[in-house]
Amino acid sequence: MRKRLLALLLACAVLALAASQKKLPKPGWNLFSKQQDVDLGREYAQQVERQMTVVPNRELTDYVNRVGMRLVRQGQLDDYPYYFRVVQEDSINAFALPGGPMYIHTGLIKAAENEAQLAGVLAHELSHVVLRHGTHQATKSQFVQLGAILVSGAASRGGGLSGALAQLGVGLGAGSYMLSFSRGMEAEADLMGAYTMAKAGYNPVELARFFEKLEAQGGNQNSMVARFLSDHPSPGNRIQAIEDQLPYMPRGPYTAQAGDLKQAQQVVAQLAPVKQKARSADAGGASPNSQQPTAPTVTSVVEMPRIEVSGRFKTYQGGEVTFSYPEEWNVTIGSDQSLIVSDDKGMVGGAVGYGIMAYVLPAKDGRVQLLSDTTAYLKGLAGSSPNVRTEAEPSSITVSGSPALLTRLTSDSPYKQQRETDVVLTIDRGSKLLVLIFVSPTAQYSTLEQCFKKVSQSVRFSS
Ligand code: ZN
Repeated sequence: MRKRLLALLLACAVLALAASQKKLPKPGWNLFSKQQDVDLGREYAQQVERQMTVVPNRELTDYVNRVGMRLVRQGQLDDYPYYFRVVQEDSINAFALPGGPMYIHTGLIKAAENEAQLAGVLAHELSHVVLRHGTHQATKSQFVQLGAILVSGAASRGGGLSGALAQLGVGLGAGSYMLSFSRGMEAEADLMGAYTMAKAGYNPVELARFFEKLEAQGGNQNSMVARFLSDHPSPGNRIQAIEDQLPYMPRGPYTAQAGDLKQAQQVVAQLAPVKQKARSADAGGASPNSQQPTAPTVTSVVEMPRIEVSGRFKTYQGGEVTFSYPEEWNVTIGSDQSLIVSDDKGMVGGAVGYGIMAYVLPAKDGRVQLLSDTTAYLKGLAGSSPNVRTEAEPSSITVSGSPALLTRLTSDSPYKQQRETDVVLTIDRGSKLLVLIFVSPTAQYSTLEQCFKKVSQSVRFSS
């Protein structure tokens, strides 16, 4: 009796243990081949290196490759042509492109407390690559059109695969407004990243610790981490989720906690400052980041409300333009034919606290020059709005067949002590520049991001 009871208890314990061990995630449904992931990553990597400053320092590059390749090899990750480069950017971020290339901001190297934390971000990003989250997401959202593109060889014509995807409003590269991962994908990347770290001798808890530290700072509208957090939304309680799985991971002692991070940080500290590159290779001119006039800070007394949207949309049609917008918002048409789409709480005095603004600007010489007109427009914006900062320089997309640029700014919000994120979409309509500005307090940007994407993807022109 007793023996049987013990056996029963043991069986229960084993069952309970087995039930709580999460299976390692596998890549989801995907119309792209692995080779297409690699091709796409190469195209985006070229764009990235035109837009960002890759640090040519050998010691630093060797260091991040050492950490990255240790994760790849000891973590037994799928075979891709991985490489790791450092880009001179103060914000705390790193991003991997489909098929292997990874770029690590100097800001991340500075912010990490030990090598395990840096490895944690790399392992998380590597997991997105191995799980093919970018192309999986594109497959899910655009599978009908993608099927045609991927089999027709449309990609082999000018512009490549990334150009063909841009036609669909899909961007998977850096600075791409169209890509942020779902919470489910984040949980997968955390789990796989943690296993990868453990196999490579890093304490997996450092991954969660670092992410939670960033989340704590990001709640404070820290623009240095805002982008990272919006690209990688928290699946919730990362430390607990990883600790729950620790019993199933390769156990320590973990030997690579501090590593050579201190030396790498010294190299970063000694780098000469760089000028921001212009976003487009043939732009040649100054970036809109340089020498922007700064308006004085406005002190507001209006508290930021909690923003809620149902996710249901209605359609606006005016002139040649049609787009969807959240059903609880209203469209107001100004005397200058400008549009404001928001609700009562979104309007603060005459300013938009959250919502969408739309303007049509006639081209100076009858013909829009997309990049220079956008740059001029952004300069004007910087002169008239308080403390505008460019977070991501203009990147090219296509909106309903028209070339467009997407620029991400932050500025002071009309709400008390808030910053806001402004995503500016400038669309070349031949003789006119159509400007859409998506506005949200940075602290609640994640609430509106999906909705803004839907609106921008819904824009259609009737002529
Ligand atoms: Zn992520």
